Amino acid sequence: MTSPAWLPDLSYTRATHDRAAERRTEPRLVPRLLAEGSTGVVLVHRGRVAVGDDGGLLLLGPDAVADLPSEADGDDAHVGGHRWLFLGEHVGGAGGAFVALVLPDAADTEAVDIEGVDPASPAARLVRGHAWAGLRELGGRDLDALAAEAVALAAWHASHERCPRCGEPTVVEQAGWVRRCLAQDLDIYPRTDPAVIMTVTDDADRLLLGHAAHWPAGRFSTLAGYVEPGEGLEQAVRREVAEETAVVVGDAPGDVEYRGSQPWPFPASLMLGFHARARTTEVRVDGVEVTEARWFTREELLAQVRAGAVGLPGRPSIARALVEEWYGGPLAD
Ligand SMILES: [Zn+2]
Repeated sequence: MTSPAWLPDLSYTRATHDRAAERRTEPRLVPRLLAEGSTGVVLVHRGRVAVGDDGGLLLLGPDAVADLPSEADGDDAHVGGHRWLFLGEHVGGAGGAFVALVLPDAADTEAVDIEGVDPASPAARLVRGHAWAGLRELGGRDLDALAAEAVALAAWHASHERCPRCGEPTVVEQAGWVRRCLAQDLDIYPRTDPAVIMTVTDDADRLLLGHAAHWPAGRFSTLAGYVEPGEGLEQAVRREVAEETAVVVGDAPGDVEYRGSQPWPFPASLMLGFHARARTTEVRVDGVEVTEARWFTREELLAQVRAGAVGLPGRPSIARALVEEWYGGPLAD
């Protein structure tokens, strides 16, 4: 199963915009962009984004968010609990910029009494006035990469308000792309957690799929796991397959082959897809993370899926793309 091409058209990876990282240090970047009518604003709340009537990512004009201040110390407001982030601009720079407005968790009515947010606040009105969707629902739609960037960066801010070294509060700089510890004169950058995810095939080109303990009955997917500190990707592939199923992946050139990647910001993962060739076929699951693992021929997998006995991972995921790459085409749900 060797294909010269990377996995095609993975959700959240299409280059629909330019991150324009060189602009992040421009003074007062977000307030200036909001003064331009062409800037598109992505609303983020509790890890979801506002969507339009068609279910796709909604881009608001600056007028719609004019009640939410963007002026603060430096560029990057964290004023009144909301936060502004610079996401990039149209490819080539013409056509306007993209910013994210991250609304405070408490800006929905349930949390009003708990956190004291005025239910009539601009943030609360924005939350109540829009439909919201998670990234899984946006996968494959226009601008899904922009939504992934906004959600991922917002999640990083939510968990890094304090310096990981000294515990002091940090300030936001570079339009949301750096948090700075003033006590230690230290810049802290957004982090991404690499994870490997892999199709494993044997000499008969059967596919090894596993069932995780917390999944619904019958669901099977590719094996996966986080890369550990000080570990290479190929090592991580071999270790995860061995830990979860006791199957040994070869260590000859080409036995572990990179296939493509997909951001998976729930909250901070980057899925690195591989195809791995097994040297052994005896399966012995760990019983903790993975409670069942089986080899499938293409005919077996098709029959099991058609019969409803096996459920595959959802369409936007790289897991589904890897399975379908092995299968040789789309598998109907
Ligand atoms: Zn510090």
